[in-house]
Amino acid sequence: MALERIVVVGGSLAGLRAVETLRREGYEGSLVVVGDEVHRPYDRPPLSKQILTGQWEVEKTALPGSAEDHGAEWKLGTRAVRLDPAARELELSTGERVGYDGLIAATGSRVREIPSTPPLAGIHSLRTLDDALAVRSALEGSPRVCVVGAGFIGAEVAASCRARGLDVTLVEALPVPLGRVLGDRTGAHMAKLHRDHGVDLRCGVGVDGFEGSERVEAVRLSDGTRIPADLVVVGIGVIPNVEWLADTGLDLRDGVACDATCATALPGVFAAGDIACWENPLYGTAMRVEHWTHAVEQGIAAAENLLAGEGAQPFASVPFFWSDQYDTKIQMAGRPLPTDEVEVVHGEEGDHRFVVLYGREGRLVAALGFNRPRSVVQYRRAIGEGKGFADAVADARQA
Ligand SMILES: Cc1cc2nc3c(=O)[nH]c(=O)nc-3n(C[C@H](O)[C@H](O)[C@H](O)COP(=O)(O)OP(=O)(O)OC[C@H]3O[C@@H](n4cnc5c(N)ncnc54)[C@H](O)[C@@H]3O)c2cc1C
Repeated sequence: MALERIVVVGGSLAGLRAVETLRREGYEGSLVVVGDEVHRPYDRPPLSKQILTGQWEVEKTALPGSAEDHGAEWKLGTRAVRLDPAARELELSTGERVGYDGLIAATGSRVREIPSTPPLAGIHSLRTLDDALAVRSALEGSPRVCVVGAGFIGAEVAASCRARGLDVTLVEALPVPLGRVLGDRTGAHMAKLHRDHGVDLRCGVGVDGFEGSERVEAVRLSDGTRIPADLVVVGIGVIPNVEWLADTGLDLRDGVACDATCATALPGVFAAGDIACWENPLYGTAMRVEHWTHAVEQGIAAAENLLAGEGAQPFASVPFFWSDQYDTKIQMAGRPLPTDEVEVVHGEEGDHRFVVLYGREGRLVAALGFNRPRSVVQYRRAIGEGKGFADAVADARQA
């Protein structure tokens, strides 16, 4: 079927890269981008880093290529509310219906909230540019900060607040930060990193509630402790934005289910970025990845495959992300499990410059680097090539 109109839903990172790819690959038909934020596509990683520390002004977060239209009609500040696959139409919050031959779903994710959070001023989360500017403006009043959730975003918020010299309490339900992702040993290193920088890290406790009449005054923890706070930032994970795809028959249990080519079960509908749960041929299983590099790579792959028709290629990818906390650049390639075998190479745990290799069933499955950016990029390639764990450890020890 000739593609006369392609609609990209979610005008941000994966969406922009898909739009650019469609044009680069020679698609000359009509192109419509629907995004519910009013801003042109911007980068989220600096929001918890340079925007909060005040090192960057907003203009610097613009994504390369975001100032151009790419011959597309950009419907920003407009929400996709329903997909009608039988009519091949997308219904928008304006009531308009837009027909499509091809569609790329790239609506990303939104923050998970603590149930029954009272409507108190001073309780924030961090996903959008507007969220980041609201937190930054609150930081200017030198508040006592409590960050709930020591995942990567919460950890970065804590680090940025410490860079501004603020008192920070970081609350984490797990015994160590990121223990479920990185394992307890590496999680313990993350804990030390924060404590060494003056964060009051409380692990193994949940949040029972918030105190205050109009503004938040304190956070009540499950162990009975009361943390006085003027600013609370909640970072307890994200939920994929799939509601507009309800009633389409698609499997939406964990994002949008896709095959190895990023195609959903609906003709002409592909997905990319945080929202897509696709069959990763490298792992022989479906996975959803919430990282920047993935959104870029999958946005490109979904667009190429939409145009390729029968010639669509599997999208095989080793997940990769980075996080900047204090003076430490943390990078991860692959998918570790807490039960994996771990070996520390290229340095010692105490010196903040090392790599942790993760092995499972004899294979190298992940590499986590602290201030070792080049090594992690090389390990990403090695994981994709199926390198053995023992060989990877031996090679690292000889290097
Ligand atoms: C504060 C922060 C820091 C981060 N730092 C890092 C980092 O250091 N390293 C890293 O690897 N990753 C990082 N990430 C993750 C990375 O930014 C995301 O994985 C990436 O943005 C995902 O891109 P996406 O295009 O899939 O989704 P998004 O960037 O979420 O874009 C989706 C867009 O779709 C819009 N949308 C949602 N629903 C609808 C609808 N119904 N109709 C129309 N539009 C809709 C959304 O509002 C949004 O604009 C960070 C994320 C955040 C929030």
